[in-house]
Amino acid sequence: MATYIVLLGPPGVGKGTQAENLAAQTGLIHISSGDLFRENIKNQTELGRLAKSFMDKGELVPDDVTVAMVKDRLARPDCKAGAILDGFPRTPVQAEALSRLLAGFKGDVNFVPFINADPRVLIERLSDRWICRTQGHIYNIKSNPPRVAGRCDLDGSELYQRDDDKAGTVTNRIKVYAEQTAPLIAYYRGQNKLVEIDGTQPIEKVTDALLSVIRKGQAGMSWSK
Ligand code: AMP
Repeated sequence: MATYIVLLGPPGVGKGTQAENLAAQTGLIHISSGDLFRENIKNQTELGRLAKSFMDKGELVPDDVTVAMVKDRLARPDCKAGAILDGFPRTPVQAEALSRLLAGFKGDVNFVPFINADPRVLIERLSDRWICRTQGHIYNIKSNPPRVAGRCDLDGSELYQRDDDKAGTVTNRIKVYAEQTAPLIAYYRGQNKLVEIDGTQPIEKVTDALLSVIRKGQAGMSWSK
């Protein structure tokens, strides 16, 4: 049986970093809807142009476009064992669409770790965040700096700051999260899938907490690593 994990939490709480860590530990594929949009922007696709107009303002890309993009990604063979979803779903409409989609693969959302932190911490973290140009590896100049300033430890590529990590856009992203995504907390709690994790802990502690949630929840899960 495939395992699907939805990482829920406000922007900047560390979902991307934790998804990478979990992917490395479990062998499951990390799917970030934001990364998929950024990939489309880089490749100058029609979808990228549309997404950029929403992302630049810190608004959500429309549900139908987003669901279609994630659907395509989940249908690829490397997701056969499941996936770690980071940044998707972000609205109740997307959550319903995901559940129908996974039912089509004879699967379901198995775990929803909700990583949480105070908005003041998030704003500071986002302004300190640097991303690798080639593969999107994530750094924080204060809490998780690269070994060589401005260069990714893993692939040596240049680090940059996301346009939507700038102060004005960040405030709107947090507001959009509170209005449109936070209802998913109750939605998944109602399905008994939600586990809250303190996102202000050090990165490794959050990863340990996530792994223990998954291990406890699914003793029979087959780890490919
Ligand atoms: P992220 O990298 O997850 O912070 O996402 C960056 C931006 O991409 C968001 O602020 C949205 O504009 C867009 N985005 C990412 N995921 C979604 C989604 N599931 N639904 C709608 N918009 C999204």
